[in-house]
This record gives sequence, C-alpha cells and structure tokens, in this order.
Amino acid sequence: MQIIWKDSVDAATYEDARVGRVFNQRRPERFPLAIVKATCEEDIISAVKLSAKHKCRVAVRSGGHSWAAWSVRDNSILIDLGNYKTVEVDTETCIAHVSPSLTGRELNTILIKDHGLMFPGGHCPDVGLGGFLLQGGMGWNCKNWGWACERVQAIDVVTADGDLLHCNASQNQDLYWAARGAGPGFPGVVTKFHLTLKPYPKGGFRSSGYLYPIDLYRDVFNWIISISPSFDEDTEIAMVSHYPEGEDKIKLFVLFVTMKDDPEEAERALRPAQESRPAGTSNEWFCQEDSLETQYNNQANANPEKHRYCADNAYIDNDADVPAVLEEAFTTLPHRKSFALWYSMNPCSRRKLPDMALSMQSDHYFALYTIWEEQSDDARCRAWVKNIMAIVERQSVGAYLGDSDFQIRRTKFWADQNAKRLMEVRRQRDPQGRICGYLDQQDMSGVDGLENVHEWKL
Ligand SMILES: Cc1cc2nc3c(=O)[nH]c(=O)nc-3n(C[C@H](O)[C@H](O)[C@H](O)COP(=O)(O)OP(=O)(O)OC[C@H]3O[C@@H](n4cnc5c(N)ncnc54)[C@H](O)[C@@H]3O)c2cc1C
Repeated sequence: MQIIWKDSVDAATYEDARVGRVFNQRRPERFPLAIVKATCEEDIISAVKLSAKHKCRVAVRSGGHSWAAWSVRDNSILIDLGNYKTVEVDTETCIAHVSPSLTGRELNTILIKDHGLMFPGGHCPDVGLGGFLLQGGMGWNCKNWGWACERVQAIDVVTADGDLLHCNASQNQDLYWAARGAGPGFPGVVTKFHLTLKPYPKGGFRSSGYLYPIDLYRDVFNWIISISPSFDEDTEIAMVSHYPEGEDKIKLFVLFVTMKDDPEEAERALRPAQESRPAGTSNEWFCQEDSLETQYNNQANANPEKHRYCADNAYIDNDADVPAVLEEAFTTLPHRKSFALWYSMNPCSRRKLPDMALSMQSDHYFALYTIWEEQSDDARCRAWVKNIMAIVERQSVGAYLGDSDFQIRRTKFWADQNAKRLMEVRRQRDPQGRICGYLDQQDMSGVDGLENVHEWKL
C-alpha cells in the first residue's frame, strides 16, 4: 500500500497525489495529511485503521469528478481508489461486481463488447461509479429507466471502525438504504458495488437533434415540456443552451437519444418529435445512427478536462412557469464554453420511489455547467451562477447532490423524513465523524450532517 505523507515527500509528488485526479482545475486550499493509493480492499481497511491511529478523518476519491473536490479535505487521510479497479460480470444473473473507481465508460466498454450488456452510468465517460451511485446517479435515460442506484443490489463497505460488511436488503439494511442517496455523507467506504445490468440495445443508440436560435426560447421550451411526459420510454430528452463551435450567439439545442433493438422501432419512437417540432431550426437531424461511444465523446467535448468549473442545479417546482424561471440562465451564459441544461425527469419523477435515501425529484432538472479557462474569470463566472441561483431557487423544490456545492448554497436534498433518517444512520454508524462527510462552509458539519433546508426561507 503506497502512502504519501504530506511532510515527507517533495511538493510535486504531494500535489499530484492531492489533486492530480481532480477533474475541476479550480484547486481547493485544503491539504490532507496523507494520500493512500489503495489497490485492494485490505488497503482500504488498513487506511481506515491508520486514520484512527492518527486521530484524523478519512476522505475518499473514486473518479475525482466531484465539482467541489469533496475528496480533498484538511486533517484527513485521503483514500484514493484510482488504482483499485476490478470488474466481474455474471452473465447468468446479469450482475456486475465492480470497484467504485471504475468509470461508466470503462464498465460499458467491457459490458457491451464482451456481453452485449450495459449499465446506465454517468453521461460523462470519466465520472466514477463511486460518487455517482452514492448520490443516486442520473444515468442514461434516467427519466424512464429510473435512478442508477436502483440497480444497486448490494454493496461491500469498510465501516468507520475498519470492518468489512456486505450490505443489501436483508443484511445491514441501514447502510444499503443510505448508500442509495447519501452522496458524500455516506458513513463508510464502499469497496464494491453489485449492479444489475441491462441488455445493450441491439440497434445501438439513435438520436434526433434540433438547433434553434435563442429568440425561439419560449416556443421551444414549451414544446419540449409538453411532449416529454408521454414520450417513448426508451428515449431520453435534454435541452441545452450553448455557443455552438464557431458561432457568436447562444443557441438552443434539443437532443433525443433513443435506445432500441431495431432501427424501425427507433424511427417510430422519434417520429412524434419530428412531426411536432416548432419551425425555425438552424440545423437538425432525425433518427441518425449513434452509439454510447459517440455520446460519451460529445459529453467529453462539452465538459473538457483542465478547465475551471462552477456547477449548480435545482429541481424546478412542477407548478412553476419553467421557461420563465430559467430564461435568464439559458440566455445570458457568462462564457463561450459554459452551458445550461434542462433534463426531462417525467415520468420517473411521478413514481413512488423505492425505500432509499434518495427522495428528491421533480419533472424538471436544471443545471448550470459554467466552464472557463482563466483564473481571472473566477469571480465573474461564480457571481453569475450565484445570481442566477438566487432567482431560480425560489421556484425549486430542492437539488441533486451530484451538481451541488454545500459551501456555496444550502438547499434541500431529500424529503424531510429521509434526511432525518439518513442523519441518524450516519450518527449510529460513525459517531466520531471518522469519515469526512458533507463539505459545508469551513468543513464544520461533521456528524451533524446537512440541515436539509432552503436557505432563502430562513
Ligand atoms: C463532467 C461531469 C459530468 C457529470 N455527469 C453526471 C451525470 O451524467 N449524472 C450524474 O448523476 N452526475 C454527473 N456528474 C456528477 C458526478 O456524479 C459527481 O460529481 C460524483 O461525485 C462523481 O463521482 P466520482 O467518484 O467521480 O467523484 P469523487 O470526487 O471521486 O467522489 C466524490 C465524493 O463521493 C464520495 N465517494 C466516492 N467514492 C466513494 C466510496 N467508494 N465510498 C464512500 N464515499 C465515496 C466521497 O465523499 C467523495 O469525495 C458529473 C460530473 C462531472 C464533473
């Protein structure tokens, strides 16, 4: 087990271990005492016990894609799982046993090629399964196929005391319940996820895309909201505003990605959008051949590495005038690389969810992905996000942990009952606050966890 102690290695080695695998280039001023590069479960157990010996906390990194760099914490031993990669696929049961640092692309490359199966992981190829699944996981076609964490059959966990436990619906149910929605407040280190897989569609992916001038914002938004709830069940729907390459005006782009076994079925699925779309597209395509790999590449281009990011998000109230609430966000992007997203969640948002920590949703998921390159733009871009969210949050029911930063904005992440139960599970399983938990202002939340309140109502 490799341990990199802050005080006994050169600065470059320490810095690389501290933030080299953090996606957001905006580096935090937080400094772990040591980084353990784990390669197996035994290393994770040893690292948790080491932290008890040193009376410090445990931080965890799987894929390093938390926008707010939650893995980088003061007074902690950071367990970096980047070198711990295992996958076993049971084709009889269609269950994969995977380590948390595996990314969606790494898992799906194996599943599709060797088994004709897939797992609806994060849209961006390099998001780690660890952070993604603990938050709930807004994976491919979440609107119809449900949350990725609903496919977690079981987990293996190293507890705050250093014990390795198997957790599922009948053993250690409290941890199994919390693992589906606690996000970075999960009171243990997940060493393995046992995941139910889906067949990869035999016809691959197909997509339709419609690009509009931003002047048509209201018409297009009203259209997409009206057709989404009853649209085909294997099709995900998203709309972004962005600056297309080489253009100096913001455009609105609506994307339908369908996952069907044959091209005719895909065409039938996508036809209602083609026939009802508002006139005035600047560019469009209908039922074009596509694939998960192409979608991953598009997502990676839209979210480039080595850039500075500030993300925030909200579930907009189902009764709100959604286009009006989001108009400023969609039409005033502060940087040419930034984009705003509306992601359709209906009908999944209208279902009764399984009994798990994840419990916040609405028909309309909205997120800002503010992207820039120069440190000199930090204040301007961050202020833009803050100002937009100050308006939007008043029409929201809460937010998704995955695109949030609790140091900046407090809101609701769970139904009240679920939040209460989750904080109790955390206190019972980790009474001393060994695992870092939620990173709020000054990193004070500890065993108390998050308050789950709308700050603007206080
Ligand atoms: C470009 C980009 C695209 C994204 N796209 C999506 C998307 O399509 N859908 C979606 O739902 N989210 C998406 N996200 C959000 C993403 O899911 C979260 O940022 C998530 O935290 C990333 O997981 P990770 O393991 O890579 O992150 P990390 O930074 O490694 O982990 C985040 C935190 O999760 C906890 N954690 C991670 N692994 C473990 C573990 N094994 N045991 C205990 N705790 C652990 C720790 O507190 C850790 O600090 C995206 C993020 C980015 C940057």
